[in-house]
This record gives sequence, structure tokens and C-alpha cells, in this order.
Amino acid sequence: MFDITKKKAFVCDLDGTLFMGPDPIKPAVDFVIESINSGRFSFFYLTNNTSKTPDEYIKKIAGANIPVKPEQILTPLITLEAYIREKGYKSVYLLASEKVTAHLTERLADAGVKFEYNPEENELIALTYDKELTYEKLANATSLWNMRNVPASPMCPIRTANQTPVDFVATHPDNCCPSERGPIPDIGGMMKFLEITNGMKPSNVFGKPSPTLLKTVLDRFTPEQIAVVGDRLYTDKAIADNSGVDFVCVLSGETTVDDLAKYTGTPPAITVETFNKIDEK
Ligand SMILES: [Mg+2]
Repeated sequence: MFDITKKKAFVCDLDGTLFMGPDPIKPAVDFVIESINSGRFSFFYLTNNTSKTPDEYIKKIAGANIPVKPEQILTPLITLEAYIREKGYKSVYLLASEKVTAHLTERLADAGVKFEYNPEENELIALTYDKELTYEKLANATSLWNMRNVPASPMCPIRTANQTPVDFVATHPDNCCPSERGPIPDIGGMMKFLEITNGMKPSNVFGKPSPTLLKTVLDRFTPEQIAVVGDRLYTDKAIADNSGVDFVCVLSGETTVDDLAKYTGTPPAITVETFNKIDEK
């Protein structure tokens, strides 16, 4: 049974939950603002979209008059940063937009990490939702993999002096990004592009539904005190399930009543039209 009196923190998906494209879903946003002002709940904001920097999300959320701090934004760019630190990587071939590259370069400046294509030095290929993806970037990634991870053969003769295998990670698994033009390509197709070229597959895929994104929230609250709020069953509900916390399904985005009727997994803890209706249940 969903018990709102036990909740202290909500981890909110953005698109389809608090926003529809650029526009705030007003009743849901008003509920968040009131709850912050009265000190009733803490909020965290969850997105898989690594084409944007955390600063851009802060601007978007603050633009809807919601008070927000950097530590409340949960994006797989944070997980990628932590992964690079944990592994001690110093040379990363990053497939990302210029602004995301600048963001990570600044965040990891203290660790001396370089984000340049260097077949002798690169220890990691990191794929983000790169909206400035080019054929050259894809060819660099596959040739780096060929040089370091594929045994020499007549088909693949090029080797570097450095024979240490290169690691490969992707920030999230989404196949498509919802847009006003309907679904447009996200990172899933980019991963497939690489895989069908030479078989390269990521060792790790961060983002929803991986529970790693909720770690900072679970460090501060017990699972019973947390709920994930979102509009997608296969990402938002999956991360809630994988983290052992309640899922609040909103019908303001992708999931419809029909989808819920057909859904064969455990049902959401609670389903509401828009997030603010959670108080009426
Ligand atoms: Mg959503």
C-alpha cells in the first residue's frame, strides 16, 4: 500500500512528468513548489538525456520557478564522471556535444583527464547522446576498438603499440527521444551502429533503469521514504523496482491507461493523472 505520510523524497522524471517538451505541466509544478515551500518533501530530478549539461536542467527547472540546487539533478553524466574517477582513467575518447565535453573537462580537470582521440593513450571510449555526432567520430570509435581489442587479421591489420584493451561505456540505453516531431534517434541507435560494424559493445550502460543513479538519494533517505515519479514503465518504474522504492505512475506523459491494463509486471504503487493528484488518493 502506498503511504504518502512515510515519504520524504520524490525522485521526479522531467519530460512527461513535470514538463511536456519545453512547457511546465502547471499543476504538477505548482505541487512541487508548494511542497518545497512548506518543507514537506525533498525533490530530485532524474533524466537520462546526456545531450544536455546539468546546468541546462537547472535553468529549465528554475525557469518554472522551482528552487533547485546542482546536487538535486541526477543525470548519467554524474555516473560517467564517477566511473572515470573510480577507474583512474586519464585519457578518454568522448563522443559528446561541445558543451557536454566542456562540462566534463571542467569537472575532471582536478583528475587530469584528457578528452581527445589518441589511439595510443585512450583508456576509455565514452558514448553520450551526442547530437553533434559525425561519421568521423563513429569511425574513430570503431578504429580505436579495432586497434586495441580485435586480434590482428587480414580484415583488421592495424594495431597500435599499446595493446591494452580499451574500455567502452554508454551513458544510458534509450532507443528514442520523444519530441514534438515524434520519436527521434537517441543513443540506442548509436550503440547499434557501432555494434554492427565490428561487434563492439559497452561494458556498462548507466542511466535509468540502472539503480546507480539513485545512489546519492539512497545515501540520505531509507527506501521507504523515497518514491520515483515518472511516465515510462520501462525506465522510470524499472529504476524504482531496481532500487527497491515505490513507483508513482503519472498519466501526463507516455504511459496510457491501456498500457497499464496490458502491463504484466507488478503494478505501480499508485497511478495518478498528474503528480499533484497524489494528495487526493
Ligand atoms: Mg518521462
